[in-house]
Amino acid sequence: MSAESVTCQRPVLRRRLQSCRNDASEVDVAVIGSGAGGGPLAFWRSRAGLQVLVVDKGPDYHRGDYGHDELFAALNPSFLLPSVRRDPHVLVTVGQITKASRSNFGWIASCVGGGTAHMGGAFYRLHPDDFRLRARFGEFEETVDWPYSYDDLEPYYGIAEREIGVSGAGGTNPYEGPRSSEYPMPPLANLAFATRFDAACRHLGLHPFPTPRAVNSIPYNGRPACEYCAFCAGYGCHVGARGSTQEALLPRAVGTRRCEVRSGAMVREVTVGADRRATGCLYVDDLGVIHRVRARVVCVCCSAVESARLLLLSTSPAFPNGLANGTGLVGRHLQFHIGSYGRGECRSADVFGLSRTRGLLLRSLADFYFMPSGATVYPKGGLHRFELEAVHPIAVAQHIALEGNAPVWGHALKRRLWEHFHESRTVRFEVFQDFVPNNRTFVELDPEVTDQWGLPVARIHLSDLDHHSAAGKWLTERGLEVLEAVGARDAASAGIGVTTSVMAHGTCRGGTDPRTSVVNAFCQAQEVPNLFVVDGSFMPTSGGAPSTLTILANSFRTADWILANRRSF
Ligand SMILES: Cc1cc2nc3c(=O)[nH]c(=O)nc-3n(C[C@H](O)[C@H](O)[C@H](O)COP(=O)(O)OP(=O)(O)OC[C@H]3O[C@@H](n4cnc5c(N)ncnc54)[C@H](O)[C@@H]3O)c2cc1C
Ligand code: SF4
Repeated sequence: MSAESVTCQRPVLRRRLQSCRNDASEVDVAVIGSGAGGGPLAFWRSRAGLQVLVVDKGPDYHRGDYGHDELFAALNPSFLLPSVRRDPHVLVTVGQITKASRSNFGWIASCVGGGTAHMGGAFYRLHPDDFRLRARFGEFEETVDWPYSYDDLEPYYGIAEREIGVSGAGGTNPYEGPRSSEYPMPPLANLAFATRFDAACRHLGLHPFPTPRAVNSIPYNGRPACEYCAFCAGYGCHVGARGSTQEALLPRAVGTRRCEVRSGAMVREVTVGADRRATGCLYVDDLGVIHRVRARVVCVCCSAVESARLLLLSTSPAFPNGLANGTGLVGRHLQFHIGSYGRGECRSADVFGLSRTRGLLLRSLADFYFMPSGATVYPKGGLHRFELEAVHPIAVAQHIALEGNAPVWGHALKRRLWEHFHESRTVRFEVFQDFVPNNRTFVELDPEVTDQWGLPVARIHLSDLDHHSAAGKWLTERGLEVLEAVGARDAASAGIGVTTSVMAHGTCRGGTDPRTSVVNAFCQAQEVPNLFVVDGSFMPTSGGAPSTLTILANSFRTADWILANRRSF
């Protein structure tokens, strides 16, 4: 791809780098990135007595920085994400858009807490068969089995649910694997409509269950309960009720006095010694000063796209193609998630009942996690989550103005908005589906575009599969049947087989064979014994459920293994 083919190529404000400063002492563990992958490592290891330094490129926000302002969010897209101008990704969509374009596709967050600072927090465990898809269903594209099983991760799912704070009702999802511990909190409050919803689903032979959420339903671990403010996904939590790593883990890590968190610290290289072991990292602070960190163990937790980018940037005579990339596999097998959506209108009176108490619909279905044979070429389905559409006037007005065959404006738009907010509420569902790993979807260093520090950015090659939309269509039809059964009018699809990049996986695939994997079953790089890649990069397959709980659980598991084995590497 030539430089000319990169659209929207504006000149980047190139910032000047200053001389290098060396940290005086060596830490036990350097954790690069403070999101779902980095947070547990920092907390678990500092609590066990190790000296930990966390470095994150983004700012360190606090509760008071998070407002309930849709206008502010619309006007400040780089509050939680990096600026597309200074810190873009380049996206090449195979077979659809021929030109590469600057984008923030694939960026989950750039702030302390990473994506957990502004996630919705729907927190499901993966199904036991997610860990052995190839064994169960045979070969399909680049699908492989995980190097460990659900049973190996199960205790750590429990630890993650307890330490982050997940509210839910164990045992209500009949398709979930065995669990050895109950959720630490009961589910969030649900609206009167949930009872009607449950009855309609059961009439269809389905098994609705309360959506588990990384949100406090009661005061928990020193943080308050949710206020049901409706500015959740896409916004920081102003009271700290959501279990971000920034709220639930990092303060406790810092409280041990063995952990320091440095924000505004963009790591540009993981350094290695003559013995091919990681020695630490180099980061650039907001003023352009380069700092050298020395560490006995280095954990890369920058999210699947950025972790691969950092390893590819870290070249040396020992690793000319990028750190731990002797196989050329770093960046391959990139996966996101596939989403399909539907919505319908329900009467406000039905939704809220007589008492207008605060709460959520909070319902999920796992009945279609696997599809009957014949639905598509591959039987992997997904998970349905039903919720009221958030009352965000700008988004609702945009949607209503554009939803029909012709745009609506003026008096007609005002009338429709009045009806929308006073007489009905939109119930929507989203289906989380696997993004099937394939050899056309991967990340590499861009040959032309650089960030504000002059470093090559990540170029994402994205290839969709017919299966994604075929499965999405089948799953959407099942969701619409549910909406009709609960009495929703105008039930319709709102997007089928859409790639959502807020969850990213697979670029440093975990496995048992060093020839076909970048890290082993404990996220240890196959080629560098004291280097760990601990975020979604590890996951061989994405699962058909949001993956953050799995990333957190895997990080706790890795942290335990590092502590037990650190003298051997
Ligand atoms: C709007 C939204 C809603 C979501 N809702 C849900 C949900 O309901 N359920 C769910 O399970 N998941 C949800 N997610 C996804 C969830 O946020 C991610 O799965 C999770 O945060 C991924 O963790 P990670 O550690 O891989 O990456 P991140 O959490 O993104 O953490 C990576 C960190 O690394 C830092 N970093 C990157 N590069 C560098 C570098 N070179 N040097 C230093 N620091 C660096 C970044 O600033 C960031 O803090 C949502 C995400 C978004 C954005
Ligand atoms: S108060 Fe509740 S609804 Fe509002 S942002 Fe926090 S967790 Fe989400």
